[in-house]
Amino acid sequence: MIGGGFAGVEAAIRLKKYNFDVTLISERDFMYIYPLSIWIPIGALDFKDAVLPLNKLSAVHKFNLIIDAAVKISAKEKKSYAKTVLTISIISSSPSAQEKLNRRE
Ligand SMILES: Cc1cc2nc3c(=O)[nH]c(=O)nc-3n(C[C@H](O)[C@H](O)[C@H](O)COP(=O)(O)OP(=O)(O)OC[C@H]3O[C@@H](n4cnc5c(N)ncnc54)[C@H](O)[C@@H]3O)c2cc1C
Repeated sequence: MIGGGFAGVEAAIRLKKYNFDVTLISERDFMYIYPLSIWIPIGALDFKDAVLPLNKLSAVHKFNLIIDAAVKISAKEKKSYAKTVLTISIISSSPSAQEKLNRRE
């Protein structure tokens, strides 16, 4: 699973329930709860109230966790996994992924 948002985390938890060996790769170490984020600018919530730490979710639901930005999927590495699921939202605008991509050029 690449991406630690609603889609990636929900899929990881669900697949673990079916006894799959699941690894979630996320550039962030937290799941961001976007619907709560609207309250941050007006001071009704802090940033920490709108995030769930992925290490806690992985410990509870027992999926493997890698905190890093995915910058490519190579055929060789892909063979390590039976299936690779991309849940990185519509676009990967992550500065950390972009920075890594830039360093490769
Ligand atoms: C202000 C706001 C309010 C919202 N309110 C609602 C609501 O009330 N109800 C509702 O149903 N929906 C709501 N949404 C929409 C909802 O948040 C999105 O539909 C949902 O977050 C999409 O989930 P996702 O997992 O596909 O993507 P995301 O939540 O965007 O998760 C993608 C994850 O992939 C990670 N990622 C990206 N690129 C890489 C990479 N290269 N390597 C590793 N990781 C990567 C990102 O860091 C991120 O953690 C709201 C959205 C916003 C912005």
